[in-house]
Amino acid sequence: MTVLSTEEMERLHRLVSWEMPSGMTTAAAAGKACVWCGGPLGEDRARLQTSVPRLGCGRCYSARLAWYITWYDWHRHVSSCTTACQQARVCHVGYGLRAVHDVTIAAAGKEAPQCVSCHHPIHVGEMTVPVRWEGTSQDHLGYAHTQCVMTRAAVR
Ligand SMILES: [Zn+2]
Ligand SMILES: [Zn+2]
Ligand SMILES: [Zn+2]
Repeated sequence: MTVLSTEEMERLHRLVSWEMPSGMTTAAAAGKACVWCGGPLGEDRARLQTSVPRLGCGRCYSARLAWYITWYDWHRHVSSCTTACQQARVCHVGYGLRAVHDVTIAAAGKEAPQCVSCHHPIHVGEMTVPVRWEGTSQDHLGYAHTQCVMTRAAVR
């Protein structure tokens, strides 16, 4: 994975911090257990950037961080790969980056990928691109079938 600058790490830390589960144990809400798994906090716990003290265990935190890092690695490649990835042509670099990202999905507690354009599930064999869109308070990161976004000018 890419080595990130302090600035990038801070941005990712913010994104991970916002990933609060809908249900949280009392201990987790009080900052005494991991907000994601409800388990004990070890030495490697992460203090999240939230208004009230919330912490995540090292395992859950790094799993979520890995999801973001691999997503951005893949997105960075696709945004510059105008001759293959953006044309829905076979690209081994893009495929490799996607494979690395794929294995982080379940560990990060994310749902199976869905296309933001057609809303159908994305299967392993289908050509996919990472897509980002602006939300009210933060950017949202997701995926789309390459075919579904090819009608748009470029992957953003
Ligand atoms: Zn945890
Ligand atoms: Zn590519
Ligand atoms: Zn689609």
